[in-house]
Amino acid sequence: MNDAPACRACGFHPCAPVLDLGCQPLANNLLRPEDLGQPEPRFPLRLFVCPACWLLQIGDLVPPAKLFCDYLYFSSFSDAMLAHARRAAEQHRREFRLGPQSLVVEIASNDGYLLRNFKDWGIPCLGIEPAANIARVSRELGIETLVEFFGRKLAERLRESGRSADLILGNNVFAHAPDTNDFVAGLSLALKPDGAVVLEFPYGGDFIEKTEFDTAYHEHVFYFTLTPLLPLFQKHGLEIFQVEMLPIHGGSLRVYAGHRGKHPVRPSVAALLTDEERRGITRLEYYETFTRRVGDVKDALLRLLDDLKQQGCHLAAYGASAKGSTLLNYCGIGAERLEFVADRSPHKQGRLTPGTHLPIVGPEELARRRPDYTLLLTWNFNEEILAQQQAYRQAGGKFIIPIPEVRVV
Ligand code: ZN
Repeated sequence: MNDAPACRACGFHPCAPVLDLGCQPLANNLLRPEDLGQPEPRFPLRLFVCPACWLLQIGDLVPPAKLFCDYLYFSSFSDAMLAHARRAAEQHRREFRLGPQSLVVEIASNDGYLLRNFKDWGIPCLGIEPAANIARVSRELGIETLVEFFGRKLAERLRESGRSADLILGNNVFAHAPDTNDFVAGLSLALKPDGAVVLEFPYGGDFIEKTEFDTAYHEHVFYFTLTPLLPLFQKHGLEIFQVEMLPIHGGSLRVYAGHRGKHPVRPSVAALLTDEERRGITRLEYYETFTRRVGDVKDALLRLLDDLKQQGCHLAAYGASAKGSTLLNYCGIGAERLEFVADRSPHKQGRLTPGTHLPIVGPEELARRRPDYTLLLTWNFNEEILAQQQAYRQAGGKFIIPIPEVRVV
């Protein structure tokens, strides 16, 4: 990889190559049957780490207009996500003493799954959501929603119109904003002097240590640990004052930030920083062992599927997710091995998976068609899905969980 990019946070050049996942279609671009004759764009998907600030990042960007025009991820289709959102909203309301005089801004507010809690409590809120089809759903719930990307420009406009935020929330968006300096500068501009920013994103340490390579896709630009975030926030006048580890999405990090000196810095920040150093996040070998484990998962999965196929088993998959697309395309698993993909979202049913073109059907098809084995592509929801699929499992159906190591349950 002699075209290694410069770090998107600190500008260091060149970043060190970590993993090449090949040329991949856009992971959220589910096809309609009539699209099958059309060319399907593919883009390189490669991971690099910055040896100066240790930010793990993808090397090749796709223009955002291609990514967001018809986005199909509706947060409200997962019970676990809704419960998590409700708990987080409760916690923030108490901690930051929010009331009718406050303003809560959520970046990438999706279908309003989180802000609707604040709205129910009479706390003014504003959603920012670049996907028009999803913003429409949250507006129907009565939540004011701007169809825009967040950054410095929008933050300036909010500030000029007197709408600075007491609380800015961003769940699973920070890692998707390619111009990370513009995003953090925007946070600083849009926040009241005593306000707080709370961001949640999949944790880069879990990504590496649990071999979650399939959570890499073109929109997911950064795989953040705390180490590179401290200098990035500092550059824009912000300070991270608290961190929490969360079990969702295979391990997520929640960071709290405010204007420098406005909030007491809790011991959790120094503790995680020390822990990251100890685990090897600031050494290249940490990333090299990850690369080897990814190859092992691919080999083990292909071996298992081919053995089962030879025994005459019927195979399917569950979860037409972005991570499913990355895994299937990287491993080269398509219709020759899997018969269909079941998914709970009616917006996905009737479509085909990117690159591999597997038909997407409703989850009831597992019990009806009874594949012998089902590859669980949304392993981050595995407890929820295994519970929902009891009928299939009691009838003898088995699930293959690919990450962090291939196993059958
Ligand atoms: Zn850097």
